[in-house]
Amino acid sequence: MASDKIKVAVRVRPFNRRELELGTQCVVEMEGQQTVLQYPQSAHEKERKQPKTFAFDHCFYSLEAGLPNFASQKTVFECLGRDILDNAFDGYNACIFAYGQTGSGKSYTMMGAPGADEGGIIPRLCNALFERIDVLQNPPALTYKVEVSYMEIYNERVHDLLDPETSRRSLRVREHAVLGPYVDGLSQLAVASFQDIDNLMTEGNKSRTVAATNMNSESSRSHAVFSVVLTQTLCDAATGVTGEKVARLSLVDLAGSERAVKTGAVGDRLKEGSNINKSLTTLGLVISKLADQSSGKPNKDKFVPYRDSVLTWLLKDNLGGNSKTVMVATISPAADNYEETLSTLRYADRAK
Ligand code: ADP
Repeated sequence: MASDKIKVAVRVRPFNRRELELGTQCVVEMEGQQTVLQYPQSAHEKERKQPKTFAFDHCFYSLEAGLPNFASQKTVFECLGRDILDNAFDGYNACIFAYGQTGSGKSYTMMGAPGADEGGIIPRLCNALFERIDVLQNPPALTYKVEVSYMEIYNERVHDLLDPETSRRSLRVREHAVLGPYVDGLSQLAVASFQDIDNLMTEGNKSRTVAATNMNSESSRSHAVFSVVLTQTLCDAATGVTGEKVARLSLVDLAGSERAVKTGAVGDRLKEGSNINKSLTTLGLVISKLADQSSGKPNKDKFVPYRDSVLTWLLKDNLGGNSKTVMVATISPAADNYEETLSTLRYADRAK
């Protein structure tokens, strides 16, 4: 199974209204760390195709007494986000990604939905971060600074979601000799409470590029990267010596993984699709190389292709080194999404 640096989880969303009305067959089964995908059986097919079986660190869905049990937002956060937060206080960077086809629950998993207990990983993590700081500050041993940025990567271009003035134009990606790749001019705003973050997130979400495709009128064709930087400073009053521990958490709602062919994309939309596929392919490759390295698999080729996409290039310091990575693959339970679900499970499988 994966090293403790990389965790891979799969989450099944409930049937939506359309699928319920059509009486769609459920093709996903999960038990413990196993996910089984059944080949959808139609009445005229005599031969039954073999189910595909995968193993992941967490499989979020089960059948209890014959009834489907979908993991709550709280369960997903406690299993995947809590560790990341603990590690941030020890100075570790981390990345959490949601990967899957449009409509499979990526935004629900990362951001959540309106309503009590519906918040996703990002608001829960930010809330828990300030709760922890409140406890640690009493009495204060260190000083804590929290800053956030929110960007969108669309067609290999970066837009600042926290600056309405510049969100329409793209920002340049540069490289600092010591600090590595960064986005020139991206706002990084200091926040003093969870409410501050929540307000910024709401504003940022309004700016996201949302373009309609044949597949889903609200389909998101961009990667949204929400970053939280925690800086802990120790100042020794007697000696005047200061020390700093910095952790960056990047929380990423990836663009839909569906293939351009299925969505009927042409022209600009097709180009957009190939950029999306390129960054998702590069991300998968980078993660699987890092997983091989950290599990000590013999691997002659040590080269990690961070530079092949803007997404992986900007997340370089959150993926390599001592960072922790979590991938949540979100899938639909429905038979008519079989091909996309299989491709999502294969992608998640390669990340281990
Ligand atoms: P994506 O971001 O992958 O395009 P969304 O997160 O927007 O998909 O999910 C599509 C719809 O399904 C939304 O209405 C969302 O609230 C709902 N949904 C997704 N996952 C779940 C879940 N685990 N439990 C309940 N509703 C969900």
